[in-house]
Amino acid sequence: MKNTSVKFIFITGGVVSSLGKGLASASLGALLQARGYNVKLRKLDPYLNVDPGTMSPYQHGECYVTDDGAETDLDLGHYERFTGVPAKRSDNITTGKIYSNVISNERRGDYLGATIQVIPHVTDAIKEYILSDINDEDFVLCEIGGTVGDIESLPFIEAIRQLGNELGFSQACFLHVTLLPFIKTAGELKTKPTQHSVKELQGMGIQPDLLLCRTEDKIPKEQKSKIALFCNIKPETVIEALDASSIYEVPISYHKEGLDYQICKHFKLDVSKKPNLNRWENIVEIQRSSEGNVNIGIVGKYISMIDAYKSLIEAINHGGLANNIKVTIKWIDSEKLEEKNINTHDIFNDINGIIVPGGFGERGSEGKINAINYARLNKIPFFGICFGMQMAVIEFARNVLKFKNASSSEFGATKLPLIGLLTEWHTKTGLEKRNKDSNLGGTMRLGAYDCNLLEDSFVKSIYKKKVISERHRHRYEVNNKFITDFKKKGFIFSGMSPDNALPEIFEIPLHPWFIGVQFHPELKSKPFEPHPLFSSFIRASLKQSRLL
Ligand code: GLN
Repeated sequence: MKNTSVKFIFITGGVVSSLGKGLASASLGALLQARGYNVKLRKLDPYLNVDPGTMSPYQHGECYVTDDGAETDLDLGHYERFTGVPAKRSDNITTGKIYSNVISNERRGDYLGATIQVIPHVTDAIKEYILSDINDEDFVLCEIGGTVGDIESLPFIEAIRQLGNELGFSQACFLHVTLLPFIKTAGELKTKPTQHSVKELQGMGIQPDLLLCRTEDKIPKEQKSKIALFCNIKPETVIEALDASSIYEVPISYHKEGLDYQICKHFKLDVSKKPNLNRWENIVEIQRSSEGNVNIGIVGKYISMIDAYKSLIEAINHGGLANNIKVTIKWIDSEKLEEKNINTHDIFNDINGIIVPGGFGERGSEGKINAINYARLNKIPFFGICFGMQMAVIEFARNVLKFKNASSSEFGATKLPLIGLLTEWHTKTGLEKRNKDSNLGGTMRLGAYDCNLLEDSFVKSIYKKKVISERHRHRYEVNNKFITDFKKKGFIFSGMSPDNALPEIFEIPLHPWFIGVQFHPELKSKPFEPHPLFSSFIRASLKQSRLL
């Protein structure tokens, strides 16, 4: 570790999952930034997958891709959106990755004959990871996934216990996020589950310094004192985390409850200066004052698990912030659009803009193609992202170019693989090659790649730049042999990879807003810096809503 004065905040969760620990960590990161500190946020995930890249979106939600091409947990998206610090591969680790490193070291003979054990070998590997790749940060926030008491997270808890001891009070702080359930019949918030979960932590040798208590209601003073007494902490470090109507209110609300103040007090830092929360106050004010509404339809197949579209939902909301408008998302099941006798017009009746987002596999693809066809013919703003772009290319090829067999080789052998397997591409370090037998994990075209925008194109006017860099996660690509056929019919590939081999963006200039991108622009959008494509798309959808 180069920076020896860096301070660590270890964030654990208790009582139940889905407490919003990721958001709480991101908000704390934002508050420390607002006090002028450099922060880094990390997620330590207890599952055995090496990374979430191969996990089903139904189970794990979105897979967040970093600039340096790592497939990571969706909490890294919150971290990046709240702090603006680009997430890195080294910001997410899993038990699977730790074990696979330890086992490969063992196979290499690095342990010189020792018996490899969870303590010290696995815990040492975790500690080494926590202390790695730290440069000029003042704070490193490490969120431990899962809930205290889970078997899987034990090695992580043990590792942070050891680190807490080694670093001492002045460099380590333990923040535990819990829930105070409100029991209607008793008419009060209950503290017992919090007491139990803190006991569990204490049993593993960790005394939390602060408790962040999620609650639907204000916590009465007596309840705070009770929690403090039973959990062996000061009443002022029992922080109330009231449910908020928007996630962007959370930093301000935690600040009001003294979260950043108490953290700074713990580390004996100067607390006389107030943090600068302008950025967050502005966002809350825009949300409060925005008038009107646009309806955006998302046509996908993971709509029963909307965490699968986490960054997309946020980027759409950022587009709303940029236009001072509220956005309502309507979820449309792509398979529904495949049913015979379906009245597409009824489904899209009140929709002002249609998004077909990223996706995998054939199921639901014809429904997506139907939605795209509807958007194209009815001049409804359309935004195709990754898979959505690929399906739009197929729709146009089939219905305008009359390539009846146009399809994607992702769906099996096809006569006309208009979308084909990406077998080689240039990276900053050389040529990447793949074939159909390659492993599935970590082998897509991943991370940030440059893209050149066509002179005088619509996208160039949106980005106001010639060269952009966006994050990718795909295995298939548009076959560039047909670019001129498309162009003749008014479907322009207006963004290409620097070697001109990979189509990255298309647009239809004669349509009010019809754009498809091979990358995931939603991953880089931030509330205080909405992505230009989303701002423009929402503006166009707003215009469309006024035509209705
Ligand atoms: N399944 C498509 C591919 O691999 C699209 C991926 C995506 O939408 N992220 O190319």
